[in-house]
Amino acid sequence: MEDFKKVFEANKAWAASTTATDPEFFSRLAHQQTPEHLWIGCSDSRVPANQIMDLPPGEVFVHRNIANIVVPSDLNCLSVLQYAIEVLKVRHVIVCGHYGCGGIAASMSSQKNGMIDNWLRHIRTTARIYSDLIDKAATQEEKTDLLCELNVIEQVQNVCSTTIVQDAWDRGQKFAVHGIIYSVKNGLLKDVMHCEAGNKVTHGEDFPAVLK
Ligand code: ZN
Repeated sequence: MEDFKKVFEANKAWAASTTATDPEFFSRLAHQQTPEHLWIGCSDSRVPANQIMDLPPGEVFVHRNIANIVVPSDLNCLSVLQYAIEVLKVRHVIVCGHYGCGGIAASMSSQKNGMIDNWLRHIRTTARIYSDLIDKAATQEEKTDLLCELNVIEQVQNVCSTTIVQDAWDRGQKFAVHGIIYSVKNGLLKDVMHCEAGNKVTHGEDFPAVLK
């Protein structure tokens, strides 16, 4: 318990320094949040949404789960998506994967991990669809990294296929769904793909070459 006191000490120092820099910061945020971004990312502790995009509190609405998966049976994720689009009216829905994802690696292993293996089956389905491409990758690291990218593409498509997104685009609401991937090795984001109303898809400059 003693070491947990650090949490409150660090919090007090952060609140004090934030108020010193911007005296209205908390009173402004307490009034309302108007984020332009919804971030759907991995739970991995190395992939924090606000820090990676260098955005302060109030700028990103966040949903995270293991391996940034979006499935239509997940009421938690769908509720976040609906609130972000219909109430907050975000301009950008971001699906962010990351290289070296433990969830992706575990899905490629035959090792048993308990309950989480049920969740990882969503990734195994993607791996099966693209098995020809994945098999061609030379090393296990390359196979895993490719599946990290393919998983982003699948999850962007899953977001776009929801009734929430399709109905919003039909209403004329303006927002884009972006697929990006983060490298924990250098802190940089790669641009995989973008989708807009009318299911218009644009490949980013880092769209996987094997799919072109
Ligand atoms: Zn991960």
